[in-house]
Amino acid sequence: MKFNTKAIHAGQKPEETSGAVMPPIFQTSTFKQAAPNVHQGYDYARVGNPTRTALEKLIAGLEGADECACFSSGVAAMDALMKMFRPGDHILSSDDLYGGSYRLFTSIFEPYGIEFTFINMTDLDLVKDSIRPNTKMIWIETPTNPLLRIVDLKGLIDIAKERDILSVVDNTFASPYLQRPLEFGADAVLHSATKYLAGHSDVIHGAVASSHPAIMENLRFQVKAGGAVPGPMDCYLTLRGIKTLAVRVQRSVENTKKIATYLDQHPKVGKVLYPGLSHHPQHELAKAQMDDFGAMLSFTLKDNSIEAATKFMSSTKLFTLAESLGGVESLISNPASMTHGSIPKELREKSGLEDSLIRISVGIEDVEDLIADLEQAF
Ligand SMILES: *Cc1c(COP(=O)(O)O)cnc(C)c1O
Repeated sequence: MKFNTKAIHAGQKPEETSGAVMPPIFQTSTFKQAAPNVHQGYDYARVGNPTRTALEKLIAGLEGADECACFSSGVAAMDALMKMFRPGDHILSSDDLYGGSYRLFTSIFEPYGIEFTFINMTDLDLVKDSIRPNTKMIWIETPTNPLLRIVDLKGLIDIAKERDILSVVDNTFASPYLQRPLEFGADAVLHSATKYLAGHSDVIHGAVASSHPAIMENLRFQVKAGGAVPGPMDCYLTLRGIKTLAVRVQRSVENTKKIATYLDQHPKVGKVLYPGLSHHPQHELAKAQMDDFGAMLSFTLKDNSIEAATKFMSSTKLFTLAESLGGVESLISNPASMTHGSIPKELREKSGLEDSLIRISVGIEDVEDLIADLEQAF
């Protein structure tokens, strides 16, 4: 099956008792047992629910994984995954990553004795030099957030494999429609399904897809013992969203390319960061490892201040000033004062995150209207 077909059919079958084409929302906390521990695959809904199972099969299919485990949010999925590690373990991560991931690592897991190093992962020599004897995982985000750098998936994963280190990719920004890290040998893929997978800014949801038995065994245990599970309605909404993933992302990417070209020649714009532009430093790498360049774009203003960015963002009418991304509506944000506010200014500046940097998540509106909105805001 090819991608568009999988997005509709992977792991899906009409419901058995009624023939319902979409999986019912199994709004139940528990399931009847014929005798103790004799049941039809479900006993208690924290452990599993048929609506959740339908979604897990669908996401696993899209990422080319054997299995998937769903969680109540993207960070809950990360939290569950991180509990595989023990005090003294070391994790290598990017210095340009989702602010909530940075907060989870440094404010929750570091105090428990897990060690982290944050580096520029586009530099593979630096990656090799930063590996320690106790390094257990490389945490990869590409494209990075919000600088839209592309890290070399194959290169990084090969380095990890040679040293028996797990590689996990946060694939939220690209979505499986554009990039499937397991094809490059990654051990697991994580999603904030809140974003492109669900796609309508109406649900918080997380997932990890993997064919690695130890990772999946840990996650299944975390689902049951940690309990950060999604409700059946949220699973249904995510599943419903995924059915249109391909057409939504395709349109958003088309729009983003046009907006990138427009911004790139605007006199008030400093830099435009978009892997689809030929002057992007990893344009060729993006072409090689992604099916298209994505619908996230960042740019700086010539007037490089948080104040200028704030003024611009308050002037847009179609682009809504909000955190998050990957929905049908276009959003605009200033990472320095919003999503990345929890990263210290020094570290932000060291990694190249400028104060006026504006990040946009391009939706599926008509691109002429989006460009007109940006133009009036300038
Ligand atoms: C939003 C996001 C997360 C966290 O997901 P939630 O669903 O908000 O908990 C993790 N990684 C990336 C790249 C994100 O954009």
